[in-house]
Amino acid sequence: MLSFDDHDGFIWYDGRTVPWRDANLHVLSHGLHYASAVFEGERSYGGTVFKLAEHTERLFASARTMGFEIPYTMDQVNEAHGQLLKANGITDGYVRPVAWRGSEMMGVSAQNNTIHLVIAAWEWPSYFTPEARLKGIRLQWSKWKRPSPETIPCHTKAAGLYMICTLSKHAAEADGFDDALMLDWRGRLAESTGANVFLGIDGALHTPTPDCFLDGITRRTVIELARARGIEVIERVIMPEELAKANEVFLTGTAAEVTPVGQIGDLHFQVGPIARQMIEDYTALTTGAAIQAAE
Ligand code: PMP
Repeated sequence: MLSFDDHDGFIWYDGRTVPWRDANLHVLSHGLHYASAVFEGERSYGGTVFKLAEHTERLFASARTMGFEIPYTMDQVNEAHGQLLKANGITDGYVRPVAWRGSEMMGVSAQNNTIHLVIAAWEWPSYFTPEARLKGIRLQWSKWKRPSPETIPCHTKAAGLYMICTLSKHAAEADGFDDALMLDWRGRLAESTGANVFLGIDGALHTPTPDCFLDGITRRTVIELARARGIEVIERVIMPEELAKANEVFLTGTAAEVTPVGQIGDLHFQVGPIARQMIEDYTALTTGAAIQAAE
């Protein structure tokens, strides 16, 4: 099996472009033991990262919420992206910046630890298989709930928040599903393990208010695209029972892009007209932005 630590190419590591296989960290790193790490998931279309400025802002904001400062400017980080994509010859790919606390202190307190940052990029055409996307992916209900904002820094993209996502997705895959859908601690519809969720009900789009989970950059983009098409978008509390009256459901995320959902638990859905329109509009926007940047 191909492994992510065994590739040709380059990784941007603390300000230097290093050979892929040399981009290592010590086993005694606070980020590994205590999940003091924040990351981003970005996509490059035609050699340009879509909404790079927003991703970089979120990375810096996540770090600040976790109590540390990334020791570069946002401009430096954005420039590093361009250099890295070029060095690896990647036009359409996935980009993963990650920042973490280093090794100086190895207890719960880690006030003096060096903050590290790497940026890696690789070719990655589709998060879900093309067949699954065409038919709509199959979601299992997760047994884990998105926690209350009083218990986690819920608006960050912090590594620790993905613990229950991996548990949920593993359980779903073991039962033959593609992914899992999570409720929040109040029993309200929240999100999947790596994407936001939209319901099409009688021609309008409904999506949960992101008050305890990530307000995705793709989510915000799709809301704008839908409104530009004259589709009403309602952000509100959605209870899981309401899925029974949804005509269609889809997920949005940088990796998932716009992915129709064909099944949630025992409920089945057709790939609907709003999902089709949003796939078309999102593709036009991402690839169009790439063409403009190249001109
Ligand atoms: N929720 C979770 C848990 C995610 O990991 C992601 C992907 N970053 C999203 C939502 C969607 O966010 P975005 O559209 O910014 O990629």
